[in-house]
Amino acid sequence: MPGPTDPLLAWYASRARRLPWREDPPSDPDLRAYRTLVSEVMLQQTRADTVIEYYTRFLEHFPTVEDLARAPIEEVLKQWAGLGYYGRARHLHAAARAVWARGVFPRTAAELVHLPGLGPYSAGAVASIAFGEAVPAVDGNVRRVVARLTGQDPAPSSGIRQVEAWVRSRIPPDRAGAFNQALMDLGATVCVPRRPRCADCPLARECLARARGIEASVPSSRTRTPRPLEQRVAVIWAKQGAVLVVERPGPGLLAGTWGPPDGPIAAGESPEEEAVRLLAEGFGVRSRAVERLGCVTHAFTHRRWAVDVVRVDARGAPEARGWTRFRFLAPDQARDEVALSRLGRKVLETLEPRRDAPGPSARRRPRPHGGREPGRLT
Ligand code: SF4
Repeated sequence: MPGPTDPLLAWYASRARRLPWREDPPSDPDLRAYRTLVSEVMLQQTRADTVIEYYTRFLEHFPTVEDLARAPIEEVLKQWAGLGYYGRARHLHAAARAVWARGVFPRTAAELVHLPGLGPYSAGAVASIAFGEAVPAVDGNVRRVVARLTGQDPAPSSGIRQVEAWVRSRIPPDRAGAFNQALMDLGATVCVPRRPRCADCPLARECLARARGIEASVPSSRTRTPRPLEQRVAVIWAKQGAVLVVERPGPGLLAGTWGPPDGPIAAGESPEEEAVRLLAEGFGVRSRAVERLGCVTHAFTHRRWAVDVVRVDARGAPEARGWTRFRFLAPDQARDEVALSRLGRKVLETLEPRRDAPGPSARRRPRPHGGREPGRLT
């Protein structure tokens, strides 16, 4: 009786997702490893369809590990801008430098896992896909597929080792990369979290969860801890069509990225009061709040920000007090010239007219707090 490897690989041969990092794998193993590394780091926390555009642009800019290693981190962050979770870009840059200093990519998962930012999953993915090492690469998708195939939740403490043991028992030594990618694709496209499409599954005949009719409830969902919501304000100070943007100092969230200055709103303060204080304390400038342009939200892994955007009128020359660097740039320039964070983009978008905004003759009505209203540069 054929083992699961055969139907899974047969399915993968015809149903593999077409992804740019899989196209035309180069014969040079180090180049293969570099491309796999970039794609795997980008795929941490981000969906494949979002990653495609960033990956393609990043590879055009940094075609080899040496190009990436030689680049300043500011340039790397700029190419990463909009993808979020910027610590990944810093780790990838550090990993490229470590590889470049070493002269060659580490060839095994046991060595790769020591590169900055690589955990067992990414190390296993690079080792199996680029170098053909028969090691597991267990991400959330693979974990779910194996839990269903074996009909049980992985144990809280030893679950990852159970899943890895299952993969090790099945992985073909000569097709390790394809096998791991097949499991990833099966989890991403067929054995999906809510309604697995078992009728299309190449492993349906051996799936214990399906045999027991419990495929939709394995693995059991864990209750998510709600992420705290923090209230913040972002300041739009515009001069002759240009807006103040700052480089966020590190370490911390969004370190090294750019955007209009923002800060937390203290209890009892209004966004307008906080905006005026932020400019005074951060830049030594006196200002007055003119209007609230809207409220944007931004989610991180463990917290969410609700950011009121306040336009101010200010005079004088700013000094950088606590901010690494600042510039006045038109929004389009900021998108092109600095590593604008996704949050920074959202804040600048509050200046753009909405498609359904009233015409010039229509009267503008004040909007309640949190509403989104077109702004304008002065
Ligand atoms: S049969 Fe259904 S539950 Fe089992 S692995 Fe396939 S898609 Fe997932």
